[in-house]
Amino acid sequence: MVLSDLGRRINSAVNDLTRSATLDEKAFDGMIKEISNALVEADVNIKLVSSLRKQIKTAVKFNELPAHVNKKRIIQKAVFDALVDIVNPHQTPYNPKKGKSNVIMFVGLQGAGKTTTCTKLARWYQARGFKTCLVCADTFRAGAFDQLKQNATKAKIPYYGSLTQTDPVVVARDGVEKFKKEKFEIIIVDTSGRHHQEEALFSEMQDIQAAVKPQQTVMVLDASIGQAAEAQSRAFKDAADFGAIIITKTDGAAAGGGAISAVAATHTPIVFIGTGEHLLDMEKFNPESFVSKLLGMGDMQGLVDHVQSLKLDQKETMKNITEGKFTVRDLRDQLQNIMKMGPLSKMAGMIPGLSGMMAGMDDDDASGKLKRMVYICDSMTLKELDSDGKIFVEQPTRMTRVARGSGTSVREVEELLTQQRTMAHMAKNMKGMAGNAQKAKAAM
Ligand code: GDP
Repeated sequence: MVLSDLGRRINSAVNDLTRSATLDEKAFDGMIKEISNALVEADVNIKLVSSLRKQIKTAVKFNELPAHVNKKRIIQKAVFDALVDIVNPHQTPYNPKKGKSNVIMFVGLQGAGKTTTCTKLARWYQARGFKTCLVCADTFRAGAFDQLKQNATKAKIPYYGSLTQTDPVVVARDGVEKFKKEKFEIIIVDTSGRHHQEEALFSEMQDIQAAVKPQQTVMVLDASIGQAAEAQSRAFKDAADFGAIIITKTDGAAAGGGAISAVAATHTPIVFIGTGEHLLDMEKFNPESFVSKLLGMGDMQGLVDHVQSLKLDQKETMKNITEGKFTVRDLRDQLQNIMKMGPLSKMAGMIPGLSGMMAGMDDDDASGKLKRMVYICDSMTLKELDSDGKIFVEQPTRMTRVARGSGTSVREVEELLTQQRTMAHMAKNMKGMAGNAQKAKAAM
């Protein structure tokens, strides 16, 4: 089951329950059962699913809930927390420091997505102001150096490799030494994989590790292997003690949820997840954001990160978010940026509520919908645009005017304002988080 389907199924299990007329214990158990089935079908380990069941039951204690409490809120929160728990590795990864050389070595089986991910990671650090480069120590696979060269050139990242030297240890050592001398801050070393775990692969990894002494070794793992991720990561861990994992191909992988939870269960930090073949298709992994997005609740932090990395002009919105504000204009700017960023279906998932609104739409329909939302904003006065939206509650006739002016309906205007309120609420919650992130960035 693809991750977005998994999210949709869990969501509808919770929504069906909380919308139903008979919210009794039987219906509650039914919801837990449906969530469990969905997880098992996404290849999540049965033991983890059973602990999730217990956790939700303990957190909710259905029979003891006082009559006046908001059962829906409690159930939603319990499901959310339990899901976060199964994908949470409870470990913090190494954080590269500015002003010094951080060597990051990649390991993993052939085809896992190592070379692609090396470039994605290099670009990620480069966008954050690190002086970044790539070393190709894969001398095993013909064409590996060419592939890295092409990717690196596209991303304008300096690289090192050799077409004649066949010893990967020599290439890795030479490349790292050269870039250290040139004061590069992030030096990413791509190593070769094999089709299977085998002695030769592991001893080569150890030799390269000994030669370049990486500050961090990252294992790249293909999400489609599902639960088998646990055994594979253990085997690699025994051979090359790595500090973090990147799980690729979570976009199409039927067993993405299984791989992520299996790795989390080994308490190995998952630093990023690959979400497509493009250079920008990589997201920082954070358990809460991941589950929020899975459930269509949006991922404000992910959106902020993504927008920052694209270097779009977002100063005003960023400033507002750090102050805990989110105006109608901010929403319009975000919508316009989303249209630039594409593919829409992926980006929409980062905006709270939008993924639900656009569920089942193809990219053309979604794009039409976004355009109408922007027309609505453009029909507002400046005062309305810069407001928190309450102005329309005070003067509902303005909604009719805006709908008429934009060629849309009052319902669509209301929908947009609901969207903006959700974002404003999240911005308020994020106030502290974004402020801290900026302070940390300034201190780097
Ligand atoms: P390596 O042998 O481990 O270096 O793997 P490559 O980097 O050559 O990747 C193998 C294939 O997986 C390529 O076709 C990549 O485009 C593809 N790939 C890598 N990461 C992702 C991802 O996150 N999503 C998808 N859909 N494809 C990916």
